[in-house]
Amino acid sequence: MASIFSRIIAGEIPCYKVGEDDRFFAFLDINPLAKGHTLVVPKCEVDYLFDLDDETLAGMTLFAKSIAAKIKATTGCKKVAMVVLGLEVAHAHIHLIPMNTENDVDFRKEKLKLTPDEFSEIAAELSK
Ligand code: 5GP
Repeated sequence: MASIFSRIIAGEIPCYKVGEDDRFFAFLDINPLAKGHTLVVPKCEVDYLFDLDDETLAGMTLFAKSIAAKIKATTGCKKVAMVVLGLEVAHAHIHLIPMNTENDVDFRKEKLKLTPDEFSEIAAELSK
């Protein structure tokens, strides 16, 4: 069965898309730690990030870099954290999280509750 992220990429499940190219897809995390919290995923469905072939892993990092630049410019954060963790979804993903303090990247924190309009506004800004 396709992962939830493959179904998002295929357009079967809606998302707030931030960007894509032929190999990678970026969209807002539905349970964000901060406004602009984005997930970057490969279009090929591989569970474990380090099982990606070298070229795909390198390409995914460069794709994440381009999205991180937009997150930084749009949110004005000090840095964008790049985090790989979690066992919930068996489809490799990188979290990009706007960061002003290290506490901003604490996954035990309560997640933001954003309205659909807020998600849409952020996604529109990031996809410019
Ligand atoms: P992890 O495997 O990193 O623990 O969790 C997967 C991440 O994907 C979580 O941060 C979760 O909020 C996010 N997520 C899970 N399902 C969906 C979804 O259907 N849409 C979006 N946009 N994000 C999701």
